Amino acid sequence: MIRPLCLLAAIAACSAGAPVGQGIDVDRAMVHVGSMMVLGPRPGDTDASRRTAEYIAGELEAVGATVERMPAEPVELPAIEVMGQVYRFKQRVTTTDPNLIVRFGPPGKALLVMAHYDTVRDSPGAVDNAAAVGVLIEVARMLHEGAPGVPVIIAFTANEEIGLVGAEQLAAKRGDEVAFAIALDLIGGSGELSINGASTLIGAPELRWLASAADRAGVVVRAPLAHRVISRWWPQAERSDHGPFTRRGVRAVHLYNRGQDGEWIDLAYHSAGDVLERVDRARVAELGRLLLHLTDEAPPAAGGDGFWLPVVANEVMPRWLLVAIELVLALGAFLALIAQRTAFARDGLGLVAGIGAFAVAVASTFAIELATAGNYIGPWLHAPLRAELALSLVLFGTLGLVTLALRRLRPWTGALRYLVIAVVIPLVVGCVMLALGAAELAWIWLVPAAVAAIAPRLGVARSLGPIALLLPVALVLAPNQLREAAWNGFLPITVPLTVWLALLGAPFVAAVAWGFRRRTTTGPLGAFVLPVGCLLSVIAGVIVLSRAHPSCSPPDFNQFHLACERVPGVR
Ligand SMILES: [Zn+2]
Repeated sequence: MIRPLCLLAAIAACSAGAPVGQGIDVDRAMVHVGSMMVLGPRPGDTDASRRTAEYIAGELEAVGATVERMPAEPVELPAIEVMGQVYRFKQRVTTTDPNLIVRFGPPGKALLVMAHYDTVRDSPGAVDNAAAVGVLIEVARMLHEGAPGVPVIIAFTANEEIGLVGAEQLAAKRGDEVAFAIALDLIGGSGELSINGASTLIGAPELRWLASAADRAGVVVRAPLAHRVISRWWPQAERSDHGPFTRRGVRAVHLYNRGQDGEWIDLAYHSAGDVLERVDRARVAELGRLLLHLTDEAPPAAGGDGFWLPVVANEVMPRWLLVAIELVLALGAFLALIAQRTAFARDGLGLVAGIGAFAVAVASTFAIELATAGNYIGPWLHAPLRAELALSLVLFGTLGLVTLALRRLRPWTGALRYLVIAVVIPLVVGCVMLALGAAELAWIWLVPAAVAAIAPRLGVARSLGPIALLLPVALVLAPNQLREAAWNGFLPITVPLTVWLALLGAPFVAAVAWGFRRRTTTGPLGAFVLPVGCLLSVIAGVIVLSRAHPSCSPPDFNQFHLACERVPGVR
């Protein structure tokens, strides 16, 4: 399968008429990847890693470049602590593999581009990280043939996988020669080229410099919003070679292809399935073009903070503007809410009964989720969308049944109070996000808060309120997002999915309750159709939940969770 695809890619590249000199030779880069595959897994300080280092040095010297072999020496790895929890104690490690360094262009503080050449045990490491090494050898060849106008250092780092050892040494010894560092790690997956690790050291000028090179190279680069927030909050926890530079105050980012097989994760990561066939030539070519264009222009002087916009391609705006827009949204939501006319109806079931009904529905859904999980912990992670839809059927069915039953006692009222709940929850979440410095994510709650607060005045368009309140549900609970968050250890899978659905969906439910506050459904609709519909919804949800389980056994799934799933197309 791979060969016709390669041929097609080659033909496509020719027919696009890409001018010579704008990209790297992808065929040669792929030959380098193949040569490293022949060496097998290349964990640090083994014959295989030493032969890899010699291969890289040999390729560079063959084109006439001067390779510096930075001798290995004992390296102090700092402790890693996040929110008071120690993830790694301070330690001293001794390794033998060298960093390989090549310089291009004039003297001066340089743009440093790094790729680690080791792998974990038992993984051929095509995407992690042979493809990055292959690209970087070819970039070095191009820079040797036509020296860049700006100082560039290319480094092949040792022993990344056991604690960024080579990069720690490089940052300690050579950090003051570096104007800006880029780590290439997890390259050639089919996912979009993405910026990770952009700490508060990375502002608007740096982001614009990256965006402008991406534009010139014809590459769309993404800066995932959650990545950006986490890298601003916990720069000490960065897990690739840029981390040691960031910790020393040297501006640094990590570039990677986010995901594989249509997901934001790569199930073959650190496994025997990380093979040559999974390296996407188009992504390799893209990265080569971007790197060459980055060497056109020196990294800019530091300046104001920036926000890399989602959805649109390579657009950066000042971060203060994002914060200002979010403050306007928050203020707008607040003012629109207090301007609402109060219309308290008396002698009916109000807000407290509504909250009680919601609590009963959530508790029942929670119980059904646990009862249908079997011996699995978090089976929903295997197929999040299916589980979300099934749990929503149970949650809304139960809520409908409870509210219909209660209405037999008294009519529902609520007027403004449900709307207050619908607006205040996202408003508070958004403001807390802003206060915590997560402006990149705050709008996900502030936009719906503002729309829901204003929507009741919009006449026929008032259903925009509940629709907007689905934004946090849609973005936070997107299947790819959940699987990526769990994969990276940010989502505890022991928390039942019902909890997330209830927390994120509560404002939507409140807005719907407000919309229905004075509806009276009498006759067959209220007496038969609605109750039966709700009951069928619960039954359908329970059936789906009890039949949908991961393909691996509960002990395996509970231990390895996503890594237990098979890599498509790889045995
Ligand atoms: Zn790696």
